[in-house]
Amino acid sequence: MSGGRRFGLQAQLALVMGVTLLMVLALMGVLLQRQRAMQAEVDQLGRQAVHAMAAEGLSRRGAAMAQQLSDSLANPMYYSDLDAIGAMVRQASKQPDVAYVLVFDNEGKVVNDGSWDMASYGQVMHDPLAARVLASTDRLTQWTDSTVEVSQVVELGNARLGGVRVGYSLADAQHSEAQAADLLRQRLDALGRRHIGWIAVLLGALLLIGAGIAWYAQRTLVRPIRALAQSARAIGVGDYDVPRPISDRHDEVGELVRAFSEMSDSISRHDRDVRRMAYTDALTGLTNRLAFRESLDHRMLLQRGAGRELALLFADIDDFKRVNDSLGHEAGDEVLLHFASRIRDAVQRLGGDDALVSRFGGDEFVILIQDGDVRVVAEALAEEMVQLLGQPLTVQGRQVFLGTSVGITLFPEDATGATALMKNGDVAMYQAKMAGKNCYRFYSRAMDQAVERRVRLETALRGAWDRDEMSLVYQPIYRLSDNRIVGAEALLRWQHPEMGAISPAVFIDVAEQSGLIEQLGPRVLRAACAAAARWKLLEGELVAPFVSVNVSPRQLRSGDLPELVQAALRDTGLSADRLHLELTETAVIGDEAHASTMLAKLHRAGVKVWLDDFGTGFSGLSHLRRVPVDGVKIDRSFVADLQRNPDDLALTTAIIAMAHSLGISVVAEGVEKQGQFDLLRERGCDLAQGFWLGYPLNESEFIQLLT
Ligand code: C2E
Ligand code: MG
Ligand code: MG
Repeated sequence: MSGGRRFGLQAQLALVMGVTLLMVLALMGVLLQRQRAMQAEVDQLGRQAVHAMAAEGLSRRGAAMAQQLSDSLANPMYYSDLDAIGAMVRQASKQPDVAYVLVFDNEGKVVNDGSWDMASYGQVMHDPLAARVLASTDRLTQWTDSTVEVSQVVELGNARLGGVRVGYSLADAQHSEAQAADLLRQRLDALGRRHIGWIAVLLGALLLIGAGIAWYAQRTLVRPIRALAQSARAIGVGDYDVPRPISDRHDEVGELVRAFSEMSDSISRHDRDVRRMAYTDALTGLTNRLAFRESLDHRMLLQRGAGRELALLFADIDDFKRVNDSLGHEAGDEVLLHFASRIRDAVQRLGGDDALVSRFGGDEFVILIQDGDVRVVAEALAEEMVQLLGQPLTVQGRQVFLGTSVGITLFPEDATGATALMKNGDVAMYQAKMAGKNCYRFYSRAMDQAVERRVRLETALRGAWDRDEMSLVYQPIYRLSDNRIVGAEALLRWQHPEMGAISPAVFIDVAEQSGLIEQLGPRVLRAACAAAARWKLLEGELVAPFVSVNVSPRQLRSGDLPELVQAALRDTGLSADRLHLELTETAVIGDEAHASTMLAKLHRAGVKVWLDDFGTGFSGLSHLRRVPVDGVKIDRSFVADLQRNPDDLALTTAIIAMAHSLGISVVAEGVEKQGQFDLLRERGCDLAQGFWLGYPLNESEFIQLLT
């Protein structure tokens, strides 16, 4: 709607009708005026006609009378018989309408005027009509306002004796004239009144028609359009539940209403779809982050008023990235589906009726608990989830072992706002990961400091090498057959001036995630090669001890590893066969084609490649056939349980046998006991390292050990 005030259809219609009415009224006014004028004219004409008729009658009568008198008077006049003249004149005077009768002689003197006393006898006529009467030789008719006079010459033979004047009073004629005119006016007035009546009726009819049109327009146009506007406005603000306007009319408005209904139906359907898409996770069908956030806000508001508590569980699949990297995204999706259904089951059993499960994208699941003692319920659920999700999954015909780390945070104990609460959940989950994964942790304020610490760590790690805070130590690697040192693994150490010694398990992870590893890695490689180049050939050996350098997945992915290795070898003068690279399974399997080209290049250069932490990934034994490596390092978790867990012993034995059949050597890590060492030797393992054999040493200590 634009800024102006509304000027509705109804108002417009009223305006048009008002203007029309005014025009009609004006027209009628003009008509009435015309009628008045006409009436006046008719009145005038009528008067004239009556007047003319009366005058005509009088003058005709006058002519006859004058003729008769002139004939009768000839003799008496000739003989001057005044009595006879008088009798005749008086006789004539008695006639109706006759005002006077005058007889005069040739000199214009009055001979008789019909009166008894004859006061005017012998007087010359001086009245205004007299002159023309005397001059006339024939009959003459003259008019004044009140009379019509006919005069006639009186002759005997050819001799003129005088004349006679007969005056008729017009009073009677005027009277009847006025009467006739009155009658006419009355008639005309009556006619005029009738006209006005008709006009009033017409006007009334017009008003009625106008009102009818207004009512009809209101019913058929204004009301449906208003209803449409109202529901359009409601739909506009997202209220799709307003009743749809309906119409069974067969006109354009009906069509419009039906089209509108269809449109709003499709809009609301569309909105539902969009909402569903916006609020659910497409893969698992669980609510998504957005919906969860809205629901959390809502529930926090309700719970706060009721003084009740909420618990939030943040679950993150451990090392899920490895599944995606090694088995592909389809397998990853399958894993997520399995996890989602397991979580849903657990929550259904333990979480209470109002629990809400959602997936936050990636491998993060968040659960909201609000029934019962939420702390107890959340803990039981977390325990169940860790247990349930730790069970192996079969994905694409392979067994996959995954764990889950769960963080728990409570409202309003830990935070009063949704954002802070979700952050806390994340922090607690992260803490569970730091505590070794596949476990749960409650949020505590101390954890926030841990997260802060990680951020500080990353800042501190930048430039740590240049500040000489980092160094390499070397852990001796022994040949099991004769228990002699054949090489060493270079391990990075970081001594921070304030924080003290920081474990590689911690800072390598930070370096890996921040990308700092791409600067650190090449420096480690170069330093390790330089150190190894200084190591002497041992007595009875064919080659001097090798150095084994850990290479992060990121370094392999960046693609310039072979060049870096060759440059390091060239610059330090170390022979290629004395350098071993330790790659994790994930690094190799993530992008097999790329990894194979890299490995082929490294092989051509004469460098050996080992698979580190073997057995913890998913490559499995069969995978070894496809990856051209020179050795595998059995992860220390297998070695640790070698004596207690027959499965681990069986697996280790199988790895050794399989590797040997492929011409690959086997290194055991984390040998801490003689029993382990003996077992490994018994099963034919080639090399071993571990605290029982030797701790990591700095370069000078290691050189001392060698001599
Ligand atoms: P890793 O490559 O598997 O290294 C072996 C780790 O096992 C070392 O821990 C070592 O001190 C430890 N170890 C050796 N013998 C025993 C034993 O008998 N018992 C126990 N419990 N542990 C033993 P460290 O030095 O803390 O390194 C941890 C991880 O950090 C390494 O695991 C490696 O993945 C990574 N790392 C260390 N230095 C570097 C490096 O320079 N570059 C890269 N990319 N990663 C490194
Ligand atoms: Mg290693
Ligand atoms: Mg290892």
